Amino acid sequence: MTPSFYDEGALVGVLTTQPLDRILDYKAPEGGCHLGAFVEVPLGPRKVIGVVWGPGKGDFDYAKVRSVMRVLDVAPMRDEMRTFLQRAADYTLTPMPAMLRLATRAPGLGDPPSMRKVYRRGASEPDRMTDARRRVLEFLHEYGDLSFTLKELAELSGVTSSVVKGLVKQGAVAEEDSPRDLPFPPLDPNRAGKDLTTDQAQAATQIGAAVASHAYGTTLLRGVTGSGKTEVYLEAVAACLKSGRQALVLLPEIALTAEFLKRVDERFGARPAEWHSGATMTERRRIWRMVGTGQAQLVIGARSALFLPYQNLGLIVVDEEHDTSYKQEDGVLYNARDMAVLRASLLGAQVVLASATPSLESWANAQSGKYKRLDLEARFGPAVMPTMQTLDMRSEKLPSHRWVSDALKRAVDQRLAAGEQAMLFLNRRGYAPITLCRACGHQVGCDQCDARMVEHRFLKRLMCHQCGETKPMPTTCPSCDAEDRMAPVGPGVERLGEEAVELFPDARVAVLSSDMYGSARALKAEIESIADGGADVIIGTQLVAKGHNFPNLTLVGVIDADLGLQGSDLRAAERTFQLMRQVAGRAGRAEKPGTALLQTYQPEHPVIRAILAGDEEGFWRAEAAEREAAGVPPYGRMAGIILSGPDVAQVFDAANALARNTAALAQVGAQVFGPAPAPIARIRGRHRVRLLVKAGKGVALQRAIAQWVGQLRLKGELRLAVDIDPQSFY
Ligand code: ADP
Ligand code: ZN
Repeated sequence: MTPSFYDEGALVGVLTTQPLDRILDYKAPEGGCHLGAFVEVPLGPRKVIGVVWGPGKGDFDYAKVRSVMRVLDVAPMRDEMRTFLQRAADYTLTPMPAMLRLATRAPGLGDPPSMRKVYRRGASEPDRMTDARRRVLEFLHEYGDLSFTLKELAELSGVTSSVVKGLVKQGAVAEEDSPRDLPFPPLDPNRAGKDLTTDQAQAATQIGAAVASHAYGTTLLRGVTGSGKTEVYLEAVAACLKSGRQALVLLPEIALTAEFLKRVDERFGARPAEWHSGATMTERRRIWRMVGTGQAQLVIGARSALFLPYQNLGLIVVDEEHDTSYKQEDGVLYNARDMAVLRASLLGAQVVLASATPSLESWANAQSGKYKRLDLEARFGPAVMPTMQTLDMRSEKLPSHRWVSDALKRAVDQRLAAGEQAMLFLNRRGYAPITLCRACGHQVGCDQCDARMVEHRFLKRLMCHQCGETKPMPTTCPSCDAEDRMAPVGPGVERLGEEAVELFPDARVAVLSSDMYGSARALKAEIESIADGGADVIIGTQLVAKGHNFPNLTLVGVIDADLGLQGSDLRAAERTFQLMRQVAGRAGRAEKPGTALLQTYQPEHPVIRAILAGDEEGFWRAEAAEREAAGVPPYGRMAGIILSGPDVAQVFDAANALARNTAALAQVGAQVFGPAPAPIARIRGRHRVRLLVKAGKGVALQRAIAQWVGQLRLKGELRLAVDIDPQSFY
């Protein structure tokens, strides 16, 4: 058994966040240290942060071993967390230091708990009472034992800060040091929630009972948009808080809206901790610490909130569980949904996966009985699912530079006349996907990537969607030097916005695309103002499909329903099905029924027909049968290997060497495909070559892959990345 405390001088193994391939030995400091303690250790000339991971190896001259410099003033990492990081590392084939970095994403972890001055009622009376002084004392009297910062106290009692200071001198106001990181206000799970419908109440009772069991389990909660999934899982959160444990609700980043926080506030009487990329450093630090001491009962967060040091986690909700943004595509390649299940299974906690259109993975896990499944069939209240219809674009004779068919235009006109909102959906950012020279046919590409540059008229530049590189719009062709012949080809949302302004001259048109707003906050503010009626026609990319509530929206027009069906991605059909259903689900949330119109050139396509028919089970069964026959996920395992480097020959040599020696893989019956240039063969100047590994379902694939790629020595600038369960193939 690993000892849980090390006396001064004992050898301890410390895992640091530095990219080293081993755990280093140090001597425990004066006063000793706990297993899991966060420590500061010397590494070469630097001080770095690490965690005491176990006893030291002792394979180094004891006299030369350096000492831990200090133990940080935070709760030691729990056994559960260390196991979780290790298992997640094994699963994703990620080095441990990178996992530890994910778990310590809070600035100032090593700082002493910073203090600040707070003010409360003092014992004495001032020798001379003034009006201002009386206001301060009456204010403090009213709030009893509460303390305030100088600024708060002065502002709230309407005096200058020198008045407060004067009272401090006289002992009428007490000045104290208080930790800066304050606990989050307590949530009250006993407040009454909404009256649930029979369906909702049943689902809530079942999940609540599961939470109360203190055992691991995963439930797929499926229900159309607006059926009350959020209401149901908030009940599960209540059950969890009542049992004295913490809860985590994961949301796709962009779905973290003020509207959602308000709902939590209404249900529990206070705001939860909010962990996302826009959170300030101070806020992150506060959440990290308070989560660790149990003084943040509920965290609402984006995927990395999964790696916070919860003291006592009982429930993880993954809302919109099918959302692709749960898969981190750079750095540590992990899927937060799958890691949530892993973490919960180690903790004896419950997972709720909520979605209107679950991933095939989760659907299959429910079919096989690995997950429980609960369905909410109807939308809440009078709202009904929108009627869906295709518009056959083969019979539309649209002039070039027009993408909105006459039928769609008429439908929008009708909504506008009725004072309702309409949305035009196109999953393409920018103005035009291609910039072409009309003299020679040259298409402007990125210098660093194998990708076309996309015109962003709003930013007045061409942009590469792979590396983010931009350049000014050329006036002469970079290839043939012809002047003023560069032309945009095809539509992006910005161009569609132009068309909408022309087609609907009296309407207020808003274009919602992630790149058009300076910050996530600005974007959210815009979304909220649109929901409040700030626009009549909304033009949007994928991000509008995610969880926003536009009560007055009754029509969704999909400009190109075929877009996602192109390409060889194994999930193309699934993604299109989900996206179209989600987008359509935006229409008719409130009392007014909605309509979704899908422009398509292939109305007979099985996916398009499945979307129209609304036969979800039928779609999933068919899709599952195809994947099963092909032995691909979720009925088989896959891993992507990407080798990259500046020199294409060197990259291919390494890939070929790997492909030649696959004994480790053959042992578990895994097959290797490739090497082949990746679909995007160059990004940021690095050539990319892909191998694909396929294996049967029950296979210990990670170990085999680790052995297999372990034989390759990566020379120079060559890099190898392993993507277990790849979601995208680029
Ligand atoms: P989903 O998460 O499935 O999209 P929500 O939980 O957001 O659905 O519910 C949709 C809307 O209906 C919300 O405004 C919600 O407050 C309301 N709603 C759902 N169920 C109830 C209920 N039982 N009582 C009152 N309002 C409800
Ligand atoms: Zn590029």
